[in-house]
Amino acid sequence: MYDVEKIRGDFPILHREVNGKPLIYLDNGASAQKPQVVIDAITNAYAHEYANVHRGLHYLSNVATEKYESVRGVIARFLNAASEDEIVLNSGTTEGINMVAYGWAMPRMQAGDEIILSVMEHHANIVPWHFLRERQGVVLKWVDVDSTGALDPQAVIDAITPKTKLIAVTHLSNVLGTRVDVKTICTEAHARGVPVLIDGSQAAVHQPVDLRDIDPDFYAITGHKLYGPSGSGAIYCKPERMAEMQPFIGGGDMIKEVSKDGVIYNDPPMKFEAGTPGIVQTIGLGVALEYMMGLGMQNIAAHEDTLRDYTVERLAGLNWLQVQGTTPDKSAIFSFTMDGAGHAHDISTILDKKGVAVRAGQHCVGPLMEHMGIPASCRASFGLYNTKAEVDVLVEALELAHDLFA
Ligand code: PLP
Repeated sequence: MYDVEKIRGDFPILHREVNGKPLIYLDNGASAQKPQVVIDAITNAYAHEYANVHRGLHYLSNVATEKYESVRGVIARFLNAASEDEIVLNSGTTEGINMVAYGWAMPRMQAGDEIILSVMEHHANIVPWHFLRERQGVVLKWVDVDSTGALDPQAVIDAITPKTKLIAVTHLSNVLGTRVDVKTICTEAHARGVPVLIDGSQAAVHQPVDLRDIDPDFYAITGHKLYGPSGSGAIYCKPERMAEMQPFIGGGDMIKEVSKDGVIYNDPPMKFEAGTPGIVQTIGLGVALEYMMGLGMQNIAAHEDTLRDYTVERLAGLNWLQVQGTTPDKSAIFSFTMDGAGHAHDISTILDKKGVAVRAGQHCVGPLMEHMGIPASCRASFGLYNTKAEVDVLVEALELAHDLFA
């Protein structure tokens, strides 16, 4: 049984107050809080097991290397990848997508080649592709979401032309909560010879991810949203794509030999991991993923879907609130605007006074905001430790905000 009160006991920060009120943390879409096991793993690594990895011939370096390297296998298991050799460790999704843009896409794309994006991508899955547009004349083709925020996989496939070189889409929108049928997109795109990059930053947090079933070419995750440390993350790369990719950052660790005349690179995935990595961050991420798998991704998803249903029901009673993203099978992420409120920041400031942490602004989705015709919104995004009682406090705080704006 999923015991949310017991789970809350694992997260020390949830017991603090903010502005004299119990903290209601609903900003998980931006970054999640950390369980004690992750905090302990970080402390233990620095206190007892710290040295640089891969280089030393001494005891501590070997211990640190073993712990750090074992995380590759944990991530492979978490995502159901076929092998840990398909996992490139990095600092998060932004680095992962930039690696693909610089190392795989740039050398293979010419002026006029096309990349298909959905309109609800995060800037991390937009700006690296704009680099290719600016520098080499690659064309970005945008696929809209419908009025509920759903993305029709067929619309993505219909956008393919003989010039399409890549589809880059999110698996779950960080603003609308929309889940995307990435399996259909991969199957149909592959049948037409088009590779697919998936931004899994949000999906991997809220639902089981089975890469052997989805079969993407690239799948990016970011540790700090997965209850792990910031500065940790990974990107899955299909072996064929990895073989085609050039290294993006050069330096130590990614080489076997360097001479005045040339370089012999390390084997993948280490070929793509230059310099001293986020050693302790990655170790912390491994512990966070084990923690999530211990709770069970299906159980986390079921709990959050219950919260979603309850929030939909409670917010439906507020006829002065507009929720963006109403497709039924969405995740528990709620973006909203309010009649009479000046800026979304004003709403979040009032909620903050009640101890409720939400995000306000553009949420790094400029094209989506343009598509929806709003300058900004507030976002309440739920995590594995949130409760129905917290939804009630959110609704009370929204009612207060609405009264103040009236
Ligand atoms: N993609 C999505 C959907 C996100 O929500 C985020 C973070 O907000 C990112 C990418 C970027 O992740 P990071 O800043 O950890 O690289």
